[in-house]
Amino acid sequence: MRVMILGSAAAEGWPALFCECEVCAEARRRGGPNQRRRTAYWINRDTLVDFGPDIHWQTAQFGIDLAAVGHIFLTHSHTDHFSPVELRWRARGFSAVTRSLTLYANARALDRLRDERARFGGDMSLTEELMTPGRCVTAGRLRVTALLADHADPGEQPLNYVIEEDGRSLLIANDTGWWPDESWAAIRAFRLDAAILECTYLHSQPEARSKHLGFAATVAMRDRLSEIGVLRPGAAVVANHFSHNGRTLHEELCDAFRPHGIAVGHDGMVFEL
Ligand SMILES: [Zn+2]
Ligand SMILES: [Zn+2]
Ligand SMILES: [Zn+2]
Repeated sequence: MRVMILGSAAAEGWPALFCECEVCAEARRRGGPNQRRRTAYWINRDTLVDFGPDIHWQTAQFGIDLAAVGHIFLTHSHTDHFSPVELRWRARGFSAVTRSLTLYANARALDRLRDERARFGGDMSLTEELMTPGRCVTAGRLRVTALLADHADPGEQPLNYVIEEDGRSLLIANDTGWWPDESWAAIRAFRLDAAILECTYLHSQPEARSKHLGFAATVAMRDRLSEIGVLRPGAAVVANHFSHNGRTLHEELCDAFRPHGIAVGHDGMVFEL
């Protein structure tokens, strides 16, 4: 399985749009990995996880042939993870796409899609699949299982995903706080070769565990996954989904995570498992 991080920022991007704060100014000055698009992932050639407002920039920058993407999994309905307006451009007249697309998402995200379809009126030419916690689907060569995350409004079931191919397993855990018990129970069925864990709050609220994680909570989540035997020895662990409010730039973040054996996500980062 080949995985590329297409974006590593929280909702407002980093540098955050409109922001005059010091860490955004410094991110603009340093550039490189400090330039963070909204979070999304590209798995092999044909699968995306999340589809946010930077998708056009991501496809251009990283050479993604969107027509070849047949499966998009959404973690939740928030605008940084799902930009349904960009699905309009599958319609006849805007594109000549012939290949199929299935969008896997929770009920709230599918509501947003329905609203967008009603406003648009055109045929986005895609299939919807409702994902709920515990549901497992086959998408091309991948087997994808949804877990309940701790995030969003009480009315929404935010999802994290375990993605498997040829006996190799990847966890994508954003956006989420500390998991509910049912997800800690469900994850015991897996042995992970890699895990991407969110770390939205970084050092601004290191212990935070509600709706998002801070730096210490991300390390604690990795430790817990190890303790219960879910992380295989030597499994790659990558932190991702960072807010400028966390105030730690990429280079300093690498220094902070290095002693814990956790890599720091950046746009364009690729790993194979
Ligand atoms: Zn987010
Ligand atoms: Zn800022
Ligand atoms: Zn969110």
